[in-house]
Amino acid sequence: MYGPGSNGQQPIIVLKEGTQRSKDKEAQFNNIAAAKAVADSVRSTLGPKGMDKMLVDTIGDVTITNDGVTILKEIDVQHPAAKMVVEVAKTQDDECGDGTTTAVVLAGELLKQSESLIDANVHPTVITNGFKMAAAKAVEVLDNIAVDVTSDKLLKQVSLTALTGKSVGGEGDILSDIVVKACRAVEDNGTVDTDDIMITKKAGDVVADTYMIEGLVIDKQRVHPRMPKLVKNAKIALITTQLENKKTEVDAQIQITAPSAMQSFLDQEEAHLKELVDKIVAAGANVVFCQKGVDDLVQHYLAKNGVFCCRRLKESDMIAIAKATGGKLVGEPMEIKKDDLGFAECVEEKEVGADSMCFITGCKNPKAVSIVIRGGTEHVLDEVERALNDAIRVVGVAIEDGKVVAGAGAPEIEIELKLAKYASSVGGREQLAIEAFAKAMEIIPWTIAENAGIDSIDSIIKLKSAHEKDKKKGCYFGLDLDSGEAVDMLKRNVVEPLRVKVQAINSAAEVANMILRIDDVIASRRAPPMNPMADPNMGGPGMSGVGGMM
Ligand code: ADP
Ligand code: MG
Repeated sequence: MYGPGSNGQQPIIVLKEGTQRSKDKEAQFNNIAAAKAVADSVRSTLGPKGMDKMLVDTIGDVTITNDGVTILKEIDVQHPAAKMVVEVAKTQDDECGDGTTTAVVLAGELLKQSESLIDANVHPTVITNGFKMAAAKAVEVLDNIAVDVTSDKLLKQVSLTALTGKSVGGEGDILSDIVVKACRAVEDNGTVDTDDIMITKKAGDVVADTYMIEGLVIDKQRVHPRMPKLVKNAKIALITTQLENKKTEVDAQIQITAPSAMQSFLDQEEAHLKELVDKIVAAGANVVFCQKGVDDLVQHYLAKNGVFCCRRLKESDMIAIAKATGGKLVGEPMEIKKDDLGFAECVEEKEVGADSMCFITGCKNPKAVSIVIRGGTEHVLDEVERALNDAIRVVGVAIEDGKVVAGAGAPEIEIELKLAKYASSVGGREQLAIEAFAKAMEIIPWTIAENAGIDSIDSIIKLKSAHEKDKKKGCYFGLDLDSGEAVDMLKRNVVEPLRVKVQAINSAAEVANMILRIDDVIASRRAPPMNPMADPNMGGPGMSGVGGMM
């Protein structure tokens, strides 16, 4: 890279050789192209009739999903601007658990709309200012059209709306009842900690056999068949180290010269293990959950004492049990005390399909529930789990905020119309940016229609006229994807938490602004190609991984 060499002087070398640099409009258009490519990669999944994607990772594992954030996490995005858009999906997922595709598609469209402004020499600062004003106004519009959550029936509709796009839509009714029940069960002073809802999967039966229990379900069996299958008034020891004789770090050799010495050595080991069990039993435990291995002898002694024991639990399960039963995780089993034990009314091994699992019910802390997902194959289970997670999050958010908006493109069209009016009141060059923002909102109903095989232009016209005709209820009119007509979505029960829409708009505007403000990209040699179209082998502009995604 050379600086300007004035009056015939040697050009001044500023950047290291091999550094790639793109500036001004070139940099902006490059970044915009990359961001749009990310948005395009998930567009076809938007809405209840969106398609699924099959993702194959480097070791050949297959994921089938239409969840925006799952797709974007899975594909290996290279371009720095594209990565920023992927971050939007992650933020949206962290904050609300839903609306990830919406946020990304919106970000792409905002950038697309700003291209013509940049072409017309509107300064990026003016555009970003206008976008900021527009986003603030959009949130105001959303607040005005939001309705209060007055019943669990409405919450169920929120869950159903979140589930409709997923392949589990058919069982939405059963799953949504479970979701609302679970969220209500863990609700505490107006907040819903969705981590308190434990999800366990077991292949077999059908998705409709999914159920919820109050308590925990751990995918483990007791270690010894002579242990009781059922323990009432369970006092639970939670041990994080192995219940075995410790292996020495160095290879030690013990020379034994007489058979009696051999025996006494073995006796000693055995005595130690027996003492371990004695301590646990003396503390009052009748159930042991061990995060590591359990020696055969320990199993035997525990069984003899009528203690129920599972081994090799996941750390997350151990923590969940501790939280639910009020027990403490114990790292030094020889020192276990009565106080360390957790309590549950019942610990039982029960059949689930062809397998059995461990059910912990009547926990000290009643705010612990589990959902056991059933379904034909692992892929089905995984997608149901993702769908349930989304639904749980949105219902949680709806309970916490107590506000929902109609869906199916209704809020986007309302925002577009209100922003168009607002733009003319602002005037100046910002007006252009606000108008571009307004226009960009159309992409959501447009894409939902497109993905359902409905004419997008017709749909937008119908929606706009419905919104303008009815001053009071017009704002609830969204797109019925079967008839292609504008319908009151509150009546049609398509509702989403207000926070999902607010967050989607805010983070889309934020990332668009961030990308627009970049006018110079200086990349060291080993950075990915700045030109998004650089590598023809990539799955799309600036991406590697899944071919033909775009
Ligand atoms: P996201 O990842 O953004 O949540 P989805 O694929 O879940 O993407 O699609 C969400 C969009 O689909 C929202 O705009 C929502 O209002 C709309 N939608 C959901 N259910 C329906 C329905 N039954 N009819 C029309 N639109 C719907
Ligand atoms: Mg969704």
